[in-house]
Amino acid sequence: MTATPRSLIQCTVDFDAPGFQTGTLNVPYSHDRSAYGHIPIPIAVLNGSPGPTVLLTGGNHGDEFEGPLALMKLLQTLPRQSIRGRLIVIPALNFPAFLKGRRTSPIDGCNLNRIFPGNRNGTVSEMLAHYVDTELFPLADIVVDLHAGGASFNHSPMVLAALPADARRHDEYIRLIDAFGAPHTMVMDLLGEDRTYGAAVERHGKLFVCGEFGGFGTCNIDGLSIVEHGLARLLHAAGLTGAADVPASSGTRLLRVEGTRHYLFAPEHGVFEPMFKLGDRVQAGQAAGRIFNPHAPWESPRVLHFEADGIVVCIRSFTGVEPGDCIALCASDAQWF
Ligand SMILES: [Zn+2]
Repeated sequence: MTATPRSLIQCTVDFDAPGFQTGTLNVPYSHDRSAYGHIPIPIAVLNGSPGPTVLLTGGNHGDEFEGPLALMKLLQTLPRQSIRGRLIVIPALNFPAFLKGRRTSPIDGCNLNRIFPGNRNGTVSEMLAHYVDTELFPLADIVVDLHAGGASFNHSPMVLAALPADARRHDEYIRLIDAFGAPHTMVMDLLGEDRTYGAAVERHGKLFVCGEFGGFGTCNIDGLSIVEHGLARLLHAAGLTGAADVPASSGTRLLRVEGTRHYLFAPEHGVFEPMFKLGDRVQAGQAAGRIFNPHAPWESPRVLHFEADGIVVCIRSFTGVEPGDCIALCASDAQWF
């Protein structure tokens, strides 16, 4: 009797074979026009001499493009590179969403970054999260997941950092963040959300580096350059590659999101007129903008205010708002400790 596989997803690359390989993660998908079909998600692995494993993923959300483009460009060079350790690259993890340029999967509606640890017997996205959690995270020492604001946000390009729970690894982690050397590094506060890819990596006790490198569902070329240079420096700092052939970092400035006071949410339906720009330094009590009632445009608009001092790091793309929509995110200057 054959053992029950941990995952129903089949991977066509051998993570232990030497050299460069390309292949796919085949996610079973039996549907009306393909009874025995699967979704092939491109994956590449480069194995060198013994050393650490770094997992690089983009396209966790399908409408964020700097990460996937940086990883596709990296893949052009990998066949000619020799490294210490192992590099696993998936440019577009939520592949069905990526092909449609959508945040969520067009197949099951799932936001891949809100369903970890996934489900072996679940939907396509749930199976994928489960595979990543049970098969890929255990292989990795360092995990890097590349994001952007997507269609609904524009985000200042920056690394998102989270110190590992194990305080003995803080120095090692900060060294990686400094090596990446994005102009800004932000300690995010997702208000308790623990279904994310990053939360899952943390549960495995692996080092996790994330980032937001643009938005509007397009490619921010400054953000792309920050990703490419940052990854090159990080891979060098992690010991996989020789000195990176990219400019040195001019240092990173640390920011921190501190709870709901740094979020600006819409309290009602309407048309939002912003009174700030991305990157503005704002103060508590400052008017952030006004919501007009499109059904009674003669009514006075409702004025919204920032709750805390900070720098605006993220701004909503869409002018139409509904109650609970996030309009802006701010962060304060910070220190690690
Ligand atoms: Zn994202």
